[in-house]
Amino acid sequence: MQLKSIQDAELKGKRVIARFDFNVPLTKTEPRKITDTSRIDQAIPTIRLLLEKGATKIVMISHLGRPDGQVNPKYSLEPVAEYLATKLGMDVILSESAVDNGVKNLLHLPETKLVLLENIRFLPGEEKNDMELAEKIAQYGDIYVNDAFGAAHRKHSSTHAINAFFKNRAYAGLLMKKEIDSLSTLLEKPAKPFVAIIGGAKVSDKIKTIEKMLVLVDTLLIGGAMAYPFLKAKGATVGKSLCSDEDVTLAKQLLAADKGGKIQLPKDHIVSDSLEGAPAPCVGTSIPEGQIGLDIGPQTIQSYADHIKTAKTIFWNGPMGLFENKNFAKGTMSIAHTIAATKAFSVVGGGDSVAAVQESGEAAKFSHVSTGGGASLEYIEKGELPGVQALKMGV
Ligand code: AMP
Repeated sequence: MQLKSIQDAELKGKRVIARFDFNVPLTKTEPRKITDTSRIDQAIPTIRLLLEKGATKIVMISHLGRPDGQVNPKYSLEPVAEYLATKLGMDVILSESAVDNGVKNLLHLPETKLVLLENIRFLPGEEKNDMELAEKIAQYGDIYVNDAFGAAHRKHSSTHAINAFFKNRAYAGLLMKKEIDSLSTLLEKPAKPFVAIIGGAKVSDKIKTIEKMLVLVDTLLIGGAMAYPFLKAKGATVGKSLCSDEDVTLAKQLLAADKGGKIQLPKDHIVSDSLEGAPAPCVGTSIPEGQIGLDIGPQTIQSYADHIKTAKTIFWNGPMGLFENKNFAKGTMSIAHTIAATKAFSVVGGGDSVAAVQESGEAAKFSHVSTGGGASLEYIEKGELPGVQALKMGV
């Protein structure tokens, strides 16, 4: 079943209740400032379109952080309300609570167009997918819009249960539609050759994604700490690098399943004797005793770039090394630059690789930079998400 987009919705004179993912990173100290606004920025086109199409009110729902069902001022959406107001050049009223009686009063004020409900995760019902909570917030709107791709893998009251009250009146926002369309292209009709680059900390975290990718792609480039269990499984030494026995077992299984020889592993490394130590090149696949592998080496960068340049479809998740430390960021940055220079359909998903792409200054050259790390991996693995399914079919 197709996702219905707000582009096809009749919104003139309607009140819209819309779920967004405004779960942005904030500074740890007061006054709390948003350190990366991209999730809000990517939702702006949806808000503008709803207004252009004649919606009289937009009541916005979001979570922020993990307040675990309790009111906690640390996780207030106040900085988000302020940023939205500046960005849109309109007043944004932040309600005291998502189920505050005052919200209904606000809906009767003709001058109030934009209401942001306070953090929905301040209410214990949200993460329990509670029907009563869903029914209460459903009363704020004639139409439900879900643009919160980053929360679509959760079965929560404002992403899942709420759909029960909007049969044939539920739509995907522009960002949700773009996320699903981009990821579906990878799953259903990727132009070949399809090259995936998977990095990050642990094989066990991404085992399902790797298994799925092995079926879809022509070449799977492995980097980051994730590479060491594979190298160990093939008989190399890994020194003090991150490498659990569990991951070595999984890597062995994946290598055995890779009948087409799609998996490529690093040929050399950048190592150090500690996470803060000086970087040193390490030629060959083995890492000497006492050393930690912290980035892919120059030969690997070249070889991975050669694969990436041939691709018509590219998916990237996970950094190639400890990229938060500049000494070990070269592998990750070079992957970002190489992908950006191709004409391939390119998708990057996952918090750390998205941060790296942003840092590289190349984000605009990617076909799609996913706003949802966990959600994008789960969609690739299962081809569906609870929040998206509920939006299509109701609950
Ligand atoms: P993930 O969330 O699984 O994508 O993992 C991302 C994290 O893995 C980042 O914080 C990276 O710094 C870290 N990482 C990647 N490669 C290495 C490595 N070789 N050694 C230690 N940490 C790494």
